[in-house]
Amino acid sequence: MSKIQTLSEDIINKIAAGEVIERPASVVKELVENSLDANSTNITIEIKGAGQKLIRVSDNGDGMSPEDAKKSIIRHATSKIRTADDLYSIQSLGFRGEALASVSAVSKLTITTKEKSTVEGFMVEINGGFIKSSGPAALNSGTTIEVKDLFYNTPARKKFLKSDLIELKHIIDIITRYSLYNKSISFKLINESRTIINSPSTPNMRANIASIYTPSTAKDLIKISHEHHLEDKKGKGKSLADLNENKVAIVKEKEIKNIEELSDSDYKKKLIKVYGYTSKPQDCRNDRTQQSIFVNGRWVKNDNINQAIYDAYHSLLFHGKHPIYVIKIDLDPESIDVNVHPNKTQIKIEQKHLVYEIVYKAVYESLEKNKLIPIMNIKTDQQFSFKTNEKEKLNWQEDLKIEEVEKRIISNKEESKYLFEKSNQALLRSKETNEKEISDQIVKYNHSNNIPKVGENRDSKYLISKGMNEKVNSKYEESNTTDIKKVLTSQKGKELNFFKGTEKLPPMRLLGQINKTFFIAETVGGMLIIDQHVVQERVLYEKFMSEYINRKVAVQSLLEKELLNFTTSEAQLILANLDRIRQFGFTLEHFGENDFLLSTIPTLFGRTQGKNLLYIIINEISEGGVKEFERVQEEIITRMACRASVKAGDELSVVEMKRLLNELAECKLPYTCPHGRTIFIKITADELEKKFLRK
Ligand code: ADP
Ligand code: MG
Repeated sequence: MSKIQTLSEDIINKIAAGEVIERPASVVKELVENSLDANSTNITIEIKGAGQKLIRVSDNGDGMSPEDAKKSIIRHATSKIRTADDLYSIQSLGFRGEALASVSAVSKLTITTKEKSTVEGFMVEINGGFIKSSGPAALNSGTTIEVKDLFYNTPARKKFLKSDLIELKHIIDIITRYSLYNKSISFKLINESRTIINSPSTPNMRANIASIYTPSTAKDLIKISHEHHLEDKKGKGKSLADLNENKVAIVKEKEIKNIEELSDSDYKKKLIKVYGYTSKPQDCRNDRTQQSIFVNGRWVKNDNINQAIYDAYHSLLFHGKHPIYVIKIDLDPESIDVNVHPNKTQIKIEQKHLVYEIVYKAVYESLEKNKLIPIMNIKTDQQFSFKTNEKEKLNWQEDLKIEEVEKRIISNKEESKYLFEKSNQALLRSKETNEKEISDQIVKYNHSNNIPKVGENRDSKYLISKGMNEKVNSKYEESNTTDIKKVLTSQKGKELNFFKGTEKLPPMRLLGQINKTFFIAETVGGMLIIDQHVVQERVLYEKFMSEYINRKVAVQSLLEKELLNFTTSEAQLILANLDRIRQFGFTLEHFGENDFLLSTIPTLFGRTQGKNLLYIIINEISEGGVKEFERVQEEIITRMACRASVKAGDELSVVEMKRLLNELAECKLPYTCPHGRTIFIKITADELEKKFLRK
């Protein structure tokens, strides 16, 4: 007798349910996706017992005819695709026709539904996959699906469920994602009769994010909006190399027709859109919970896209910090495969590397465009104390000789400007700075798109920049410009402690150093505190990175080769990595046993740091292993830059600081160190005035 038997429909459905319906949240996901596919604008989800007792999803969508309502629970019954070809260009969220079949196999299910065109609704009740009763029902247009006693007939599955709290968290997660994506659809999640998510239809994505996360989270997010067409106007494929010079172009250019030959839908097909919001580096979180990627409206988990986003943050992100993001990608449905897993949260992207590059560029550009200088919020309610301890008092007294103090008071009227950093001032006075150039620069800066604007949004923690300050008062801006011009040029332009400002950095007048660590400067709309170490770190990092990437590390030969002795394991490691080490500017020759001769060092870091930096390289390679070299390269450069930078505690003159700022101005991302530490903090004049109760 044959041992093989075809399984009964009931068992097949239970097996399928095992894949599709892992937990209550999976049911919520499938039902909500169905409501979305049915063009609903209002979706309410009610939960009891973390979804095990009851899940009820009601929508105001298209509804079903009585016949369709009965068919809907048949496995592989769907209204969404018809032919195999349809499978390759899926526009709807559902298509497998197995969700309702699976849910009905493991629960007690009731479908109540009414199409707009009919007068009466219809109800069908299914228990463990079999229709128990059906008949007319009263209902507004739309569908309500009620799932009771989930997994009542599959005790094994029930056992695997986590605590109610965790299961509820998964449900909240699903609703959060879908309401994030669908700004004009109103979602309500009611748990045990209490509304826990209420996301009304909102006019824009930021308002929508505000209703789901908090208004303050939404307010500080950076907008992303980027389109990439696979063919440019000249009919040539866009060079991927120009997406980012630091990235290797991975994708070959496609063979492309002339753009005029393309029809509208052809054109759209070749368009890849990336849009959404992401957080500033300083607002990143310790966890990844507030990250969502949507591809063609579907919430997906995709390592490739996620990696592109993280890579765009690159050195702006502190280790262990995670950005908040809502990233939406629209692309040709034919270029992705959503039929990878029954739960449909995984997709396969045909041009994976291209999508990586485009997402990378979209996020990178937005980060770069936005000024990332945090503004310090001086709390007015915070009591400030001038009490100093005895030791501090002594220091002050020692430092300030009586004559100095006298001189300061006497010369206050005409010479106050030279009191700080007097010696430097004397040196600098001889040179002239072009006054017109300075005022031109200020005007230009104030009118450039990226101007950090002051005077609005007082309670905001960070500098508000382009895109978020449309409502800025332009009158304020103008009068502010005039004032600042007066202040910054008041000394007949003779001050060389004046940093002219560039597209990226504001003009400022360097006032001096605090604690041999921070520089203080006056700038448009307030004052800046600058971390000198971090400035240099960023400068060295970018300079060296560019040398390294271009394989043009400038080296300095040592007049006398230096003999270095290593441990056996280090020596082995060095021998295996001589070339890699040379790429960083260190030339080593094996000199028998564990000894090596060092003959060159990278010029940029100078003689004194030379050897220390070599140890950093050896250390990183040994920790990461040769296989990991790709990944540790950047960490090596980051650490080299840090090690070689001026330290807190180094005395710097205004001139040296200005030179550093000029170099910083050349940097691509002059606002944080390679590890993400802030370079500038701004205290606005506005805050100071409030602090001194002038406002
Ligand atoms: P799929 O979504 O893959 O088509 P499902 O089992 O989830 O499969 O649903 C089966 C069918 O039932 C759908 O194709 C759709 O026609 C219908 N349906 C399910 N839920 C709804 C709803 N909320 N509103 C209207 N039609 C629905
Ligand atoms: Mg479905």
